[in-house]
Amino acid sequence: MSKNYRSELVFLFGDPVDDNPTGAMMEAAFAACNLNYRYITVKVSEDGFDAAMNGIKKMNVKGLNFTMPHKEKAVRYMDRLSPAAKIIGAINTCYYEDGKLIGDNTDGKGFIQALANKGYSPNGKKIFILGSGGAAKAIATECALAGAKAITIANRTLEKAQSLSDVISSKTDCRAHAILFTSGLVIPEDTDILINATSIGLAPASDKRPDIDFDSIKKGMVVSDVVFCPADSLFLKAAREIGAVCVNGLGMLVCQGVLAFELWTGIKAPQTVMAETLAKEMN
Ligand code: NDP
Repeated sequence: MSKNYRSELVFLFGDPVDDNPTGAMMEAAFAACNLNYRYITVKVSEDGFDAAMNGIKKMNVKGLNFTMPHKEKAVRYMDRLSPAAKIIGAINTCYYEDGKLIGDNTDGKGFIQALANKGYSPNGKKIFILGSGGAAKAIATECALAGAKAITIANRTLEKAQSLSDVISSKTDCRAHAILFTSGLVIPEDTDILINATSIGLAPASDKRPDIDFDSIKKGMVVSDVVFCPADSLFLKAAREIGAVCVNGLGMLVCQGVLAFELWTGIKAPQTVMAETLAKEMN
């Protein structure tokens, strides 16, 4: 058999993107599976995105990841969208299937998988989400599609929470409602899963935590944070002290990467290698 010197390519487009550790995790995963794949992190500015996408379509790539500020704009380059991506209106991953470019959003699915890895599911549960940005949209959508009973979305910009809850209520079987995120926000005692989907607490502002009434968190409540740097955020530390079950953002980050890896390669991702690589990079 003749040698093949060509690597399969996967790109990440974003700006800023220099401190995004996904490339290290993916390259370790490709190496662990003996795949001649390369994951290339590229700084693509907002006004350079169209040219970059037109170029990429000629390069026989296996797929891409998108991060800020491209997740919404990327949708219009897709031939098809996953059901969740259609609802969310934003993608973080795309891959080819029968020559067609398919857009998906693995953030929310990664969150569900990280919960499942700890033995929990949103099915039949009351969910309380802080924030209404990209991460909140992805998580709310996947929780709704996974059978959540009700979702409350609290945001400091009420209109954004309202618009997200309208989408969830109209496009899924789950009932969602919006509230204003004010200082000392009380979490209802029948909440099963509380999620910080804001960027509060993300390094370098790791001395911050969402301004909620921590006394309203009940023992045994599942509390999750999308912030992955630091993995043990102040929010999770405070919830754990009260006796909550904590699920950190690193698990979600690994799981969304696992799903993307499997879409590009068609083989099972080496989850442990990916988790260990990411943990090392975070240190
Ligand atoms: P967005 O900018 O889209 O949304 C940010 C959200 O945080 C908004 O709802 C915003 O409220 C809220 N917010 C920010 N600052 C404050 C504040 N001081 N007080 C109250 N609310 C605030 O960001 P993303 O949704 O894309 O990302 C959010 C976080 O999720 C980031 O930390 C990101 O790193 C993390 N993330 C983690 C992933 C993982 O795999 N673990 C995957 C994707 C993201 P408002 O609407 O009023 O501005």
